[in-house]
Amino acid sequence: MATLEIRDLHVTVEADNATKEILKGVDLTVKQGETHAIMGPNGSGKSTLAYSLAGHPKYTVTGGSVTLDGEDVLAMSVDERARAGVFLAMQYPVEIPGVSVSNFLRTSATAIRGEAPKLRTWVKEVKETMEQLHMDPSFAERNVNEGFSGGEKKRHEILQLELLKPKIAILDETDSGLDVDALRIVSEGVNRVREQGEVGTLLITHYTRILRYIKPDFVHVFSAGRIVESGGAELADKLEEEGYESYVKGGAAA
Ligand code: ADP
Ligand code: MG
Ligand code: MG
Repeated sequence: MATLEIRDLHVTVEADNATKEILKGVDLTVKQGETHAIMGPNGSGKSTLAYSLAGHPKYTVTGGSVTLDGEDVLAMSVDERARAGVFLAMQYPVEIPGVSVSNFLRTSATAIRGEAPKLRTWVKEVKETMEQLHMDPSFAERNVNEGFSGGEKKRHEILQLELLKPKIAILDETDSGLDVDALRIVSEGVNRVREQGEVGTLLITHYTRILRYIKPDFVHVFSAGRIVESGGAELADKLEEEGYESYVKGGAAA
């Protein structure tokens, strides 16, 4: 059973010729089959956590550990992390000029599975998954994220998630910029993957809205670079009512 363990993670970033510590001791364990919502105010370091787990070079780990089934994730390259089963859906997905969605997905699947997926079943799998996400077939021939609307970018992230079947899925604000219909379609995609019971999900969000569609097993409040409170789904209801203020202003949990 896949387990991601984050222990006392400290991360810095270089900004304006200064080194800033953004993550200040994050502790979290995500097991296969579990969904953890990480909720917090803007600028609290949620995306920094996501990028650090995926191995983005901008972020320097200065302390702590991250393991996946006991393997040292921090020692792995970005590619090795992906092959080990860590998937990141970015808050701001990047354009890949000249690479079609279709080629990108097949190349990613080949890299992760260690062999090219059989063409016939693959084409069918892609087509069916795109249909479920209400994506037009012509979308597969467009260049990755080039001129995509916000909703198209997020659907494309979920298409990758469904096809690549990671062990740990990190979804960074997959809900942002989606209208209600798109939010439902995207959430259904995430839930299809969850129902297979093989993924541990880290759902990063600022708003409680997506949690109406994706029910978390655990909710963590993230503030100033750490988890300051953890609970069940009811904690999201409390945040919906009270907001983050008590956490930001050095309230009880800070
Ligand atoms: P959140 O996702 O919770 O909104 P972020 O992780 O994006 O928070 O940002 C946390 C803090 O780290 C902010 O002050 C932000 O400006 C800073 N930061 C994050 N990434 C970078 C970066 N690549 N360069 C400079 N500063 C960064
Ligand atoms: Mg933000
Ligand atoms: Mg963010």
